[in-house]
Amino acid sequence: MSDLEELYREILLDHYRSPRNAGHVPGATHSADGANPLCGDAVHLELTLDGDGRIAGIAFSGHGCSISQASSSLMTEYVKGRDADAALAAVGDFQRMMIEGDPPPAADFGDLEALAGVAKFPVRVKCASLAWKTLEQALADKRGASAAVTTDERSL
Ligand code: ZN
Repeated sequence: MSDLEELYREILLDHYRSPRNAGHVPGATHSADGANPLCGDAVHLELTLDGDGRIAGIAFSGHGCSISQASSSLMTEYVKGRDADAALAAVGDFQRMMIEGDPPPAADFGDLEALAGVAKFPVRVKCASLAWKTLEQALADKRGASAAVTTDERSL
């Protein structure tokens, strides 16, 4: 294992063991549920958009494999404080990374790059993508609503 792979493994383990933004957002304006039946992963996402369309608060709860939970934690950390359009663009960038194995050059992914290696394991891509598809679903209704998504039924 290279030094970089070791670092990435440690980032993912850290987010799995100590998830960021775990729990609930009081008075959340948007929420969605995501499931990946193939692996048994489930994510419930809550967020609040402020008057400027920025993600003022975001939290997740759920269970599943280390990749799905670490990806949820990393995703919430990345999009918190960004505006909804930027968050949706990041969903697209993340999906590109899951196909190409590298983040798009313009993406400033930071620790999220720890998930790039998942692209080599197609079955696990659904695990890593779950939180992102759920975020996309939560933001799909700009007025705020709850929604559900399964990565098993939706292609990348
Ligand atoms: Zn999984």
